Amino acid sequence: MNKNSIQLQEYMKNEKIDMIYMDDPTAVAYFTNFDSNPHERIVAYVIAQEDEFLFVPSLEYAEAKEQSNVEKIVTYTDDEDPWKIISENGHRIAPTIQKVSVDEKTLTVERWFKLQQALSSETDSTEWDDISQVVEQMRVVKTDEEIKKMIRAGELADEAIQIGINLLEEGITELEIVAQIELEMKKRGVTEMSFSTLVLFGEHAANPHGNPGDRKLRNNEFVLFDLGVIYEGYASDATRTVAFGEVDEEKQKIYEIVLEAQITAQKAVKPGMRAGELDLIARRVIEDAGYGEYFTHRLGHGIGKTAHEFPSINGSSDTILEPGMCFSIEPGIYIQGDVGVRIEDCVYVTETGCEPFTLLDKELTTIIK
Ligand code: MN
Ligand code: MN
Repeated sequence: MNKNSIQLQEYMKNEKIDMIYMDDPTAVAYFTNFDSNPHERIVAYVIAQEDEFLFVPSLEYAEAKEQSNVEKIVTYTDDEDPWKIISENGHRIAPTIQKVSVDEKTLTVERWFKLQQALSSETDSTEWDDISQVVEQMRVVKTDEEIKKMIRAGELADEAIQIGINLLEEGITELEIVAQIELEMKKRGVTEMSFSTLVLFGEHAANPHGNPGDRKLRNNEFVLFDLGVIYEGYASDATRTVAFGEVDEEKQKIYEIVLEAQITAQKAVKPGMRAGELDLIARRVIEDAGYGEYFTHRLGHGIGKTAHEFPSINGSSDTILEPGMCFSIEPGIYIQGDVGVRIEDCVYVTETGCEPFTLLDKELTTIIK
């Protein structure tokens, strides 16, 4: 049994929870080591105080057997009713089912109805509860082993951005660069990026979540790269903005402000500090320079098995930073129709400060070709 599951069972005993059902693939992987991409089929982890089972479509059995550390793997075929099987096995591993917890952030309404029918007691007195915050709290502090994987994911992100920078030339499109970066990553064994790779030219980068398209690169504008990879089940996420040719003074100034905000916040990270304070530290730099209204999003987000997870680094976040927490620091300035600059490193908190997962130079890089 995975040590995360043992910890969860301790919690269940204290809180008198008879059963927990989870079917979010990253949560299933966190507790069972089985990484899957089940689409509309169900892959679920069902845990009782003294027992557990992993529920997978029979076509995934071999993979699950090989990867997971759960002894009992229950399967179903496409023509069987999965809920009937979950019901039978659920009642088998728990003597009574009075209290069940589910992850309300990821469980669909359809499955929630089915699950209630499958697990409720005959008298229908079953109590239902949310486990999402408990799991978030468990996942938020990473082990050394998890951090090692994230360091490797960060090295690959650095490499991917460098590949993109090397490709810059007048007339190339955003999508051409995206395709080359992802091809090169696949050659290095990366099976998936941690989100859709962003390569945005000039005014396109003014939309923080813009879509790369057939926009051609022109001289004397910024190029924004925002990308990450999944390495052994862990994500990276980094952003660099570089100048292709000479950008005007106003744009250079914007770059320097974002850089100062990013570096100031990264240096300020300390265990014991409120996450919200970190957002305010970066925001103050941008506000003092007169660009506060153009920094339109939170400073950062947690990262781990997915590129976006708990905690959120925003002004009102009361999360207290602890060693082992991992999150992004990504201030930006966006002026619609004109310019977008963002600089992002993800970091892990240490006993005294933090260390970044990505190490590419952050000083303004100017590419002259
Ligand atoms: Mn990013
Ligand atoms: Mn990010």
